[in-house]
Parts: sequence; structure tokens; C-alpha cells
Amino acid sequence: MNELSVSRPNNLDAYWMPYSDNRYFKANPRMIARAEGMSYFTPDGREILDGTAGLWCCNAGHGRREIKEAIQQQAAILDYAPTFQLGHPIAFEAAARVAEITPDGMDKVFFTNSGSESADTALKIALAYHKARGDSSRVRLIGRERGYHGVGFGGMSVGGIGGNRKQFGALLPYVDHLPHTHGLAENLFSKGLPEHGAQLADALENLVALHGAETIAAVMVEPVAGSTGVLVPPKGYLERLRAICDKYGILLIFDEVITGFGRLGTNFGAERLGVTPDIMTMAKGLTNAAVPMGAVAVKNSVYAAIVEGAPGGIELFHGYTYSGHPLAAAAAIATMEVHRAEDLPGRALAIEPYWQEAAHSLRAAPNVVDIRDCGLTAGIELAPRAGKPGQRAMEVFRRCFDDGVLIRVTGDIIALSPPLIVEKPHVDRLIGTLEAAIRAEAA
Ligand code: PMP
Repeated sequence: MNELSVSRPNNLDAYWMPYSDNRYFKANPRMIARAEGMSYFTPDGREILDGTAGLWCCNAGHGRREIKEAIQQQAAILDYAPTFQLGHPIAFEAAARVAEITPDGMDKVFFTNSGSESADTALKIALAYHKARGDSSRVRLIGRERGYHGVGFGGMSVGGIGGNRKQFGALLPYVDHLPHTHGLAENLFSKGLPEHGAQLADALENLVALHGAETIAAVMVEPVAGSTGVLVPPKGYLERLRAICDKYGILLIFDEVITGFGRLGTNFGAERLGVTPDIMTMAKGLTNAAVPMGAVAVKNSVYAAIVEGAPGGIELFHGYTYSGHPLAAAAAIATMEVHRAEDLPGRALAIEPYWQEAAHSLRAAPNVVDIRDCGLTAGIELAPRAGKPGQRAMEVFRRCFDDGVLIRVTGDIIALSPPLIVEKPHVDRLIGTLEAAIRAEAA
């Protein structure tokens, strides 16, 4: 197959596309053939500004030479070796590099291949932790409405998106959900963390009263919920969740799949928001999405309880054929080197005020009912068309794409998350094109 035939497939039938309206797409295909820096390119060479870093993942921009070369070099040295009862150096090095940037005391890193696998791994580690400590009754897992933790049975069950759950029956038992933190009228159009709503964390106290703390293993939340439209935690909310978890011996898991690797202007959301979890998931930006990889970092005390407390033999009956895959490990090390050398988190933080003002300037556009932001994210919420939820934002998405800008929509919320190398002219173009599309849709 030559390059052209790959970028212009003749047959769209065989590929069952994920999370897609397959029939609509195949009747109206929208293809990306190439990417570089802040841009995608269609098969016919049209440039599209990437306003979403792919799916919140190409934080260092596309086509990074350093990452590509690291993968190529590694492929030539060692394509694959297992990491069950065997090792290869680069997996250890990648873990050490991740541990360098995680919060203090979270120095143990387990590799997966995706955010979904990271979520399920984190939940299993939480259960194993309590069991190792003789607390076998702690099996209850608590998520949050509008939480997204991927599509494995654990993450889907703890996740709080009806549409992702209803198709699949009963899911995991012993799962509860805290209320989400979005929608308080007094928080609309907040810049950064909203002022009101820290008390929503007290819903955890209600679950403790209902079930008994001795049955609860862990609470899992995204520091800033991304997939359901950039839901930024109210000031003090995560601190309060942390305090309640500490009071009752419940583990706190942050799903940092989106918020990790600079998205909030710090290495992880934990740092930006000033709350350290016990377990942290990551993926996406870990390899700049050049090769699939995820990871779970845990507090040393969690590792100690499971590994050092074990009598001998295998300590955690969990792992993937590709845990710590050499090519992914090489990509992760190169990605973290780019982050360090170019201070991408610092760069994100530096442009954040400009980004925030630009995003909030959309308040003047028609049908905009809320705007929120944190780091280099923004959620712009539109009033739905009467009786037709999601259609308005999808129309805006199509107009933006036709005008050379990629945005993401979830329901009637537009979610933006450009690569962290974004510059002011990109911000102007992204927000300007989006504003024109919102106005044109309303006209
Ligand atoms: N957790 C969070 C917070 C996510 O945003 C995502 C992906 N958007 C996932 C988990 C799942 O990651 P993946 O698609 O790599 O399985």
C-alpha cells in the first residue's frame, strides 16, 4: 500500500469506529492524514488547527522529532520483552522518570496501555491494599456523577455517565456515586476554580453513614472532569474530599489521564490543586500519544502494604502483556524530556491568563450559557436546540472543521484543550473561528 492509498482508503466498511456514529461518518467521512506542531492536515492537504491536542493527549504538539526518533531507535534495539518475572532496562528508567515528577511520596509506578486500563488497575490496587491490611470488607468503590474513567468494567461502573453505562446491564456491584460539582447558578462563568460548592464533598459523609466506612475502599474522581465538559472543582472541594477520606481510611484516587503532564500548568493536577491523592492514574500525555501507554502511580505506603507486606511470590495478580512496552517506555522518556527541556507546564501556565480571557470573551456570543476553564482547558456550554440536545454543538463542530479548526463537543458543551505549545495567534484563531461558528449557527 502506498502513502496515498493509506490516506485515502477506498473501503470504509470493515472498520467499526469507536464512540462514533458509524453510518453518519461513513456517509460523510472526515479524515486526518498527517500532523505537525499545532496542526492536522486532511488527505487533500487542508490545514486544521488542533484545538484539542487530539483527544487531550498530544500536549507537546504533533510529530515531535525527539519522540519519533526515540521510538525508532528503541524498535531497532529491542522490539519486545515481557515484564512478568523478567525486565528490560527502559521500563525501569521510564518508571523512574515518572516518579520524579509525581507528588512527593508517590514513587511507585505500574504501567498499563491506556487510561481505561489505568482506571481499572487503580481500583484493583485499592482493593488489594485493603485486603493486604486485613480489611477485606472494604470493597465498595465510589465515583462521581459525570465522571469518566474509561471503558473497562471498573472505570465504566465507577464512572458517572449514563450513556456509557446503560447499554451494558448491571455493571459492578457495590458502587456509589457522589454528586457532580457543576451547575450551581452562582458559579456560572467562573474563571478558574468556582467559589461555591465545597460542601458537595460532604456527600461522602452520607455514604459513610449509609454503608459504614469499613465497607468503603476508595473514592475516584478526576481533579478537573474533562470528558463531560470541563467541570472545574469548587475551591476547597478536593481538600474536603481528602479530609473525609483520611478520617475514614478511604483511599483517594485521582484520575489524571487528562490533567497529567502539564494540562493544568503543573506536572499533575494534584500539584495545581494542592491535594495529593493516594493513587493516581495517567495515560495520554505520558507518551504524547505517539504510542499507547498508561500508568498508575501510588503512594509508597500503598506499595509497601501490598508488596512489602506479602509473604513471598507474586504480590499483585495483575498486569498486561505490554506493561512497560519498550517502544512506549522510550516514547515516555523522550516525552518527559521534551516537557522538562521546554518547561511545557510552565509554558501552559504563562499563557493561561491570555487563554482564559480569550475563552471568556465568548460570553458575548449567542446561546452561550456558561464558560469555565482551568489551565489550558475550557468548556463552553451552549443552550441546546429545543428538543434536540447535542445538535447545536455538533453543528458548531462541523462549521469549525470546515473553517480549519478542530474542537471537541460533548452534548452541547464545547471542550477545548490545545497542545501546550499553543501561542497567542493560535488562541486568537481558535477562539475567533469558534465564535464565528457559534454566531453562524445562531443566525
Ligand atoms: N480517564 C479519563 C479521565 C479520561 O479522560 C480518559 C479518556 N478520555 C480515560 C480515563 C480513558 O482513557 P483511554 O481512552 O486511553 O482508555
